[in-house]
Amino acid sequence: MSQQKNLEKKSYLDLTPPKIEKLLSEMGESSFRAKQIKNWVYDHCVVSWNEMENLPQRLRVNLDKTIPLHSLKIIKSSGAETTRKYLFETSDGHGIESVLMRDKKRTTVCISSQVGCAVDCKFCATASMGFIKNLRASEIVDQVIQLQSQSDSKITNVVFMGMGEPFLNYNNVMEAAKILNQTMGFGARRITISTAGISSKIRQMADENLKYKLAISLNGTKEKNRNAIMPLTKTHSLKSLVESAHYYYSKMHRFITFEYVLLKGVNDSPEDGNQLIDLLRLLPCKVNVIPYNEIGGDYSRPTEDTIHIFLKILKDAPFTVTVRWSKGTDIDAGCGQLAVKDLT
Ligand code: SAH
Repeated sequence: MSQQKNLEKKSYLDLTPPKIEKLLSEMGESSFRAKQIKNWVYDHCVVSWNEMENLPQRLRVNLDKTIPLHSLKIIKSSGAETTRKYLFETSDGHGIESVLMRDKKRTTVCISSQVGCAVDCKFCATASMGFIKNLRASEIVDQVIQLQSQSDSKITNVVFMGMGEPFLNYNNVMEAAKILNQTMGFGARRITISTAGISSKIRQMADENLKYKLAISLNGTKEKNRNAIMPLTKTHSLKSLVESAHYYYSKMHRFITFEYVLLKGVNDSPEDGNQLIDLLRLLPCKVNVIPYNEIGGDYSRPTEDTIHIFLKILKDAPFTVTVRWSKGTDIDAGCGQLAVKDLT
């Protein structure tokens, strides 16, 4: 496999319906084939043209010669049945990771929205890559299609919590979410978009009345503390974030989930817990506490005792609190552990 960065190559998934019709007509084929192909791709999640059984053999061969079906290639996977991490290569030679997670009730995929990330959170492995590029909508959706083809169970939920900041690639992320929702049939409430806190885009999502679930990575309750661990917040203040969250609720009447990565000695004291209650007291919301997953940097996970004391403080909060005991940390597939150094 080449390590060279090539030019991006478009796939079937990038084509608009008129472009697909044009391609088929240039091949001398009837336009009803477009619907059959769409069905194979988005409903059956096939990975090759040759699997499209109701297409004539000559058309399968012709399409195969003309355009790749998929935007991404699976390079490797690791982990177990319940949590499996996949490394994909983009057509221009970059690596991204996605995670497939199964439990009794749900099969969830955690997908990436960018190669690398510009937010530079000090506790997140993706930050070490820097920002490389935005993923196209086709590359975002393709992660779900290809992981569905790998999974015995039907994917029920999609979370934009992999590599990248979804709201710094807003248009492509919303285009991808629309395809997941309208073409692949994922209910809007089964698609969660998690942002480090780009206030203008939170407002835009509300103005556009987009009903996907919104999660915000809060991680700190004071401007200064947040600035130290999430440098992006120097230009995207906590004050404007909280205001945009209130705006979102006033328009959408939907609860936001605030994620709070618990870092030892940084934001895990009882005082931090009380400040969290004060900050969110007036906003109908949920809080998801995520004990830090190790990435080998300056931070560490609080002890079980500290975590439980913190949670006990939050018992008095007016909002629901849940804890995300990340799965897959043994294969670096937990929250904040995704990063690609090289593709081999
Ligand atoms: N950029 C988006 C989505 C990617 S991160 C965002 O910030 O929300 C997904 C979640 O993982 C975020 O809540 C983030 O705060 C959390 N996270 C990052 N690094 C982590 C780590 N080392 N341990 C636990 N959670 C982490």
